[in-house]
Amino acid sequence: MEKMWVFKCQRCGCDYQEVYDPKAALRERSCPQCRSNSVRPLHDVDSTKRQAKG
Ligand SMILES: [Zn+2]
Repeated sequence: MEKMWVFKCQRCGCDYQEVYDPKAALRERSCPQCRSNSVRPLHDVDSTKRQAKG
C-alpha cells in the first residue's frame, strides 16, 4: 500500500518525504536537493508519529 515515507539522501544527507510502496518494484528516485539517485527509504511517516514518548 502506498503511503508517505521518509527518504534519506546518501550523498548530501538531506531527508524528505515521498509516496512509496514497499511492495512495489523499485523505481528511480532522485534527491530534490542534489539530484543524486542515492536515496534510501528509511521508514514510513506514520511510524515517526507513533514514536512520541509519553
Ligand atoms: Zn541529496
